[in-house]
This record gives sequence, C-alpha cells and structure tokens, in this order.
Amino acid sequence: MNLFSYFLDYDEPLFRPPSEAFSMIFQVTLGCSWNKCSFCEMYKSKSFTSRKEEDVLEEIRRAGETFPEVKKVFLADGNAFVLSSSRLLRILDALKKSFPSLSRVSSYALPRDILSKSSEELVSLREAGLQLIYVGIESGDDNVLKMVDKGESADSTVEGLLKAQEAGIQCSVMIINGLAGSQYYREHALNSALLVNRVQPRYLSTLVLTLPYGLPKYQKQFKGIFHPMTELELLEEMKIFIENLELERTVFRSDHASNFLILKGTLNRDKEEFLTNIKKIRSLFHDNPSLKRSKPHLFSL
Ligand code: SF4
Repeated sequence: MNLFSYFLDYDEPLFRPPSEAFSMIFQVTLGCSWNKCSFCEMYKSKSFTSRKEEDVLEEIRRAGETFPEVKKVFLADGNAFVLSSSRLLRILDALKKSFPSLSRVSSYALPRDILSKSSEELVSLREAGLQLIYVGIESGDDNVLKMVDKGESADSTVEGLLKAQEAGIQCSVMIINGLAGSQYYREHALNSALLVNRVQPRYLSTLVLTLPYGLPKYQKQFKGIFHPMTELELLEEMKIFIENLELERTVFRSDHASNFLILKGTLNRDKEEFLTNIKKIRSLFHDNPSLKRSKPHLFSL
C-alpha cells in the first residue's frame, strides 16, 4: 500500500508500476478504456469513466496542503493518457501549483492514446511535466496481439512510441513472457525483440503471464491454441528475446513479483551476462525436472 492511500479515497482496485511505489497517485480516470485484453483482469470490475475534473483538481489542491514536498505523481487508472490534452494540461498545471518540488508525472498509456494527440500537444504535455508513460506492448507479434485482443499492431505500437519519444516523453515498455504459450513462443520472442529494437525505449521490463482466474478462462478467451509453457520453455523464450535485442542504452528490469529469474541491467551492455544467467538457470531446471518456479525459487544471479 502506498503511504498516500491513507489520505486519498481511492476507487479500488488501484494499480501502479513497481517504480511508482513512492509516488503520489491521483485517479483521474477509473478503469481502462479498452478493457478487452484476454490476459488482463485488472479493471474487469470497473466501467471506464473519467472522473469529474473539479473533483480531481480539488483532491490535488487538498493533497498539496498536506504533502507539498511530493516529487513524483502517477496518474491512474489504466490509461489516464486517454484524456484530452487540454484536460491533462489543466491537471498538470494544478499539480505544479500544489507541489512546487514536482519533478515527474507519469501515467499508463496505449499507443492509440498517443497517436490521437498531435506532436505539438505531446510536447506541451511533456513541458507541463508529463515526462514518462508506461506502455504494455505485451508482444511484438501481430498474430499474438490479435489472439490476446490487444487492439494494437506492432506498427501502431512503434508509431505511437516513436511519436511520444520524439516529443521528449520517455517510454517504459513491457513484454509478457509466456503470453503466447508453447505453440507460438518463438515468434512472440523474436518479433517482440524486433519491435523493441525499432523503438529503443528508455526502460524495458518483462513479467511472466499469471492467470488469477485460471487457465481454462484464458484458453477460452485466447483466439488460438494456448498451451501453458514449462519453465524451460519460458527460459528459452527469454533467451530468444534477449539474444535478438539490439539496444543502445535501455534500462532493463525483469524483477516483477511474477518473474522467477531476476535480471537487472542496461542493454546491450549486460546482454552476455543475462544470457549466461539464463543458461545457468536452464541447466538447473533441466537437471532437476521436479523443480518448479514459485516464489521460494526466485533466482537472482
Ligand atoms: S489495455 Fe492494459 S489495462 Fe487495458 S485491458 Fe489491456 S492490458 Fe489491461
């Protein structure tokens, strides 16, 4: 739980990226405007709405009276970046007034939310403080994106991310390990790497597919044949992904609670070290078939 959640009346469930653990969070929207991805249950209990602007501005004003020292703010929920630029600018202006030491505002975004804004609007948003967006790419393979109903293609994702970056907004992107199952994992890994190479994001992370509502539900929603992956296959997928990354200076994190192999570093600088670590863990699983990934088996080399 975030310290500020004791003081703000959040509409639960509330999600934020791990790196926003110490940010003040304002819910400017509720839910996700897409809410269809077959692997995602985050906002299934909510219908997407934009919160009343006057309520949000009043909340910011009151929070500023109690915590004027706040440096980072995360705008929730699912894709707060869907709001119009004019509304986001008014929110950013209120944040700046209430928190004089504010150094960064961030939010989740979908590529289409970025593409719906002009380059000039994106520059204005960055200048007003919105410096970082978190984008779930999930996969760089068009077939996989269709099978999970992401509503984006590899090209629309690249176009959106490059447009944000050209406006000076940093992108933190995420790929899901295991998303496509054992039938399609090679294409998923390779095309995800190729997409990320085209974007050269500032931050990249991976997490492992988790199915809180069970495998049968996901298999029903997945528009293809989904076979869950073994630990060895998940590691093989990571190997193909990392091997094919050609990045100049991207901070990489695979340290989400779902990851059973922790990798942290900068790519491509640490690529060989990551591959060596993956190889070691693969041998471990190969030599110990009864070994299963689970929280007690977190591997950090
Ligand atoms: S766009 Fe993001 S938040 Fe919305 S359903 Fe898909 S994964 Fe979930």
